[in-house]
Amino acid sequence: MANKDMKHPDNVAGKFYCTDPDDENGEGCIACNVCYNGAPEFFGEDEDGNAFIKKQPGTEEEIELCVEQMEACPVGSIGDDGDA
Ligand code: SF4
Repeated sequence: MANKDMKHPDNVAGKFYCTDPDDENGEGCIACNVCYNGAPEFFGEDEDGNAFIKKQPGTEEEIELCVEQMEACPVGSIGDDGDA
C-alpha cells in the first residue's frame, strides 16, 4: 500500500500521489521508471529518479492511465487515496 503520510514532497495536491523513497514500510519509490515513462504528462522524475505526481488526472481516460501506472508500480508506491 502506498503511504499518504509519506508523500514525495513534489507531488501536486490531489487524489494521486507517489510515496517518498524514505518510507519506512519499504513501499517508497525505487526509481524504476515505469510510471513516468508510461504517463509522462502526470508523473515526473526528481533528480534521483524518484517519481512524483506533477499533474492530477482529470478526465476518465487520464485517470485510467494513472490507475494503470498505479497497478504497474512494482512496489505499490502510487496511491489514489490522497486528499482530493
Ligand atoms: S512505478 Fe513506482 S517505483 Fe517505479 S518510478 Fe513510479 S512510483 Fe517509483
